[in-house]
Amino acid sequence: MKRVLILGGTGDATQLAAKASSLSEVEIISSLAGRTSNPVSPTGNVRIGGFGGQTGLTDYIKEMNINILIDATHPFAAQISFNAANAAESTNIPRLMLIRPTWEKQPKDIWIEVDSVESAAATLQNYAKRVFLTVGKQQLPAFAKLSDIWFIMRLIELPESSTAVPQGIFLCDRGPFSLDNEREILQKYNIDTIVSKNSGGDATIAKIIAAREFGLPVVMVNRPPTPLGERVSNVDEAFIWLLNKLDNN
Ligand code: NAP
Repeated sequence: MKRVLILGGTGDATQLAAKASSLSEVEIISSLAGRTSNPVSPTGNVRIGGFGGQTGLTDYIKEMNINILIDATHPFAAQISFNAANAAESTNIPRLMLIRPTWEKQPKDIWIEVDSVESAAATLQNYAKRVFLTVGKQQLPAFAKLSDIWFIMRLIELPESSTAVPQGIFLCDRGPFSLDNEREILQKYNIDTIVSKNSGGDATIAKIIAAREFGLPVVMVNRPPTPLGERVSNVDEAFIWLLNKLDNN
């Protein structure tokens, strides 16, 4: 029996857990950070909450006799990915990063590319008045002081009442989002700018296509650096990598 730890919190991680759970002689454990109160629960065993840094993750791998680590976290979840790289190295187990490709700018796109949400907020001050903000609840405080701008903030769930948020309204929803849905939001709320992370993947790309259609600018936050190591860009490739590792370990 081999134990595989999947660091999750993404649709890709959930799909991989479902696929890998069909394998015999393999036990899948999915790990979620616990950011949302009602997460999509992956197939197989699930644990929730931080490990306690790199040392905590290393201890967990040892205590649970984890044989293989797959980091299928969101491309913007940089801390856990570096912790995973260091923990896998120190416990000498194979590690894979499942990281979907970035969205690439198309000829009609108007992208203002920035390297952080703080830069995105600073950029908005120059011209935006009505913004569709899709960066997640943890990033809202960066926009809280922009008192001349109105925001529609799309989130999986509402932030804590103590979180500093900008003026505007919340829209609680979970992807995938259709193109019609995104067109309607842009029109109904008279949006002049979108703020997005370059998350990649199909589930949330419709807002980028809608912005292209309407000629609207997108303040696009570029991804943070990721650790070195083996990587694949989709669930099928991750599954094949896993099969190879199971054969060879
Ligand atoms: P992060 O900044 O890289 O991680 C911060 C801390 O959260 C980590 O040090 C770890 O705590 C804990 N953590 C993160 N992912 C974890 C996981 N899968 N299992 C257990 N602990 C985890 O991560 P983040 O940006 O806050 O993202 C948190 C989760 O939300 C991730 O699972 C990610 O896949 C998902 N997510 C993130 C985004 C995004 O835009 N950042 C978007 C969609 C989904 P300890 O140090 O205590 O171990």
